[in-house]
Amino acid sequence: MGFGWVNKDDSSTNLNISFFGGTSLSPSSSKAEAYAILTLLLVVPPNFKAHSGDFYNDLADKEAGKGLNVPPITINPKFIPDVAMIPMWDCIGPIDRDIRKFCQNITDAVTFDSFTSNNNLQLLFKNHSTQAISWSYTKLWQHQNDTLDVCSSDKSKKHSFKMKSLNHILPCGDVLSAHYPSLYSQNLLPIKCPLCGRADDTNQHLGFCPDLIQLLTNVLLDAKALISKRVTTELNTFYTNSTLTRDLDASPLFSPVVDATHLVYLIIHNVVPQSLVDLIHSHTRKTSHSTSIVMDVMKLIHLQFLLMFGNITRNP
Ligand SMILES: [Zn+2]
Repeated sequence: MGFGWVNKDDSSTNLNISFFGGTSLSPSSSKAEAYAILTLLLVVPPNFKAHSGDFYNDLADKEAGKGLNVPPITINPKFIPDVAMIPMWDCIGPIDRDIRKFCQNITDAVTFDSFTSNNNLQLLFKNHSTQAISWSYTKLWQHQNDTLDVCSSDKSKKHSFKMKSLNHILPCGDVLSAHYPSLYSQNLLPIKCPLCGRADDTNQHLGFCPDLIQLLTNVLLDAKALISKRVTTELNTFYTNSTLTRDLDASPLFSPVVDATHLVYLIIHNVVPQSLVDLIHSHTRKTSHSTSIVMDVMKLIHLQFLLMFGNITRNP
């Protein structure tokens, strides 16, 4: 990033002192500002008075622009006194920001790459773009402990269900017949959905059976009511009920379910839609509140979804 500063001379319009430079590695506006202050302190006279003004800000911005095209200024950390260690990244340069966050960004990028190139997830991307998915909230939801246990078989089963559902490998007819070919007569393949008997029994068909579509739309209405209740009564935001109701009604997430292009497809496969996060966060403006509500909505939809299947299979 580039940075720059100019000297405002009150006695004349002659701007005879200005400076520009560039920084390397982790891009950050705070870092560029710190470098500007550091270089300024090296030349500033003792009775220096700070000034502000759009004209001089614009001149400083122009200087910062020039800084993009010059070799970066680097600080040699070896000369910082009492440093216990200097973390380096791949022999390129020192890590000059929070190491935990630096590593988090890198692992997030690797995870994102492995997710988007995962063959099983291509079924997810068939109808929904990668931008429609909130990757950070999906990670939180996948890691969320839905039991009170620190470690238990129940917890493992629930975690495994989420992973299998995301990867489209729940034991539906297509997966079972592929894994155990000798158990199924080739004449009866592909196995049909036990509810409608018409579509193939696949992970993609889960929840989108013609017999379930209306129930699925009702589940979303319950989720909509939960968001409305949590945002208006519990969080006391400065937004009015009418803006929340308007936004909920306009959201495609709560429109009637027709086919797998509906965003509920992502939720069924344990993926958090970005539009759900945006909708809630625009009214709470606080990440901890948004996270709590998003997790509760995901939980409600999944509980209702499982109950819906239970009722259908008990009362065919
Ligand atoms: Zn069906």
